[in-house]
Amino acid sequence: SKREGFATIPDVSWEDIGALKSVREELQMAIVEPIQHPELYAAVGINAPTGVLLWGPPGCGKTLLAKAVAAESKANFISIKGPELLNKFVGESEAAVRRVFTRARSSVPCVIFFDELDALVPRRDDSVSESSARVVNTLLTELDGLSERQGIFVIGATNRPDIIDEAMMRPGRLETPLFVDLPGPSERVEILRALMRSKPVENLAQLAEFAGTEACNGFSGADLGALARKAGHCALRRKVTKLELQDFKLASESIKGSVGNMQKYYR
Ligand code: ATP
Repeated sequence: SKREGFATIPDVSWEDIGALKSVREELQMAIVEPIQHPELYAAVGINAPTGVLLWGPPGCGKTLLAKAVAAESKANFISIKGPELLNKFVGESEAAVRRVFTRARSSVPCVIFFDELDALVPRRDDSVSESSARVVNTLLTELDGLSERQGIFVIGATNRPDIIDEAMMRPGRLETPLFVDLPGPSERVEILRALMRSKPVENLAQLAEFAGTEACNGFSGADLGALARKAGHCALRRKVTKLELQDFKLASESIKGSVGNMQKYYR
């Protein structure tokens, strides 16, 4: 498997992402432009933000967005799942956090993506352990160290913004929360279009429209990805290689929208 936190430039473009237009625009302004035109920011005398927090239900494009940001700005991408850095030995988790930033400093420009950020920086209340609090402090210190701008940007992602330590969202840190919502009917159409962009299909417009129907209610982007894969299997079973509407209809029957109960996340 891939070495943890290894820096690469991802192969994802804005074109691969359906819907989420305003989030894409925010990310373009917050990260892509500052990486590509640091001189403009210097000329105006402002610092670009250090990072943003993507939050929302699972499978709706947070990881995809982070990869596209790195690719569009031709920056290296370091992807970390919060829990990967946690280690039961004293001081090891903090050391792992510091190593991520050391690696980033040696591969600028760089986007660091912390998925499942809530596992790494839980709110420091009475119930949080001393060792968790030390990890939170280490990450905050590293973020503050970026304020002098070295071409390192941080994107955090979480399904549970409510359990993240608030200090993470102070100005100069991940100050901009961007909501990555479950797609509605017309957004599902755009996502299926993006997913099928380079696939062999009989009638793309007709297929994409299917994503907007009731059969796909509650589907996340990840569910639509599964739909496309299963439709491929259905086509193969018919011994054809071009996907048609009937393949999508059949495939949709075996998929249940994975984000049926949003209240689980947002009260
Ligand atoms: P998690 O919270 O589970 O990490 P996530 O929000 O990071 O989820 P992604 O990993 O970005 O979700 O999405 C999973 C897959 O679903 C993507 O690889 C892609 O195939 C598909 N997908 C999700 N959203 C979109 C979208 N807006 N456009 C195109 N494909 C999408």
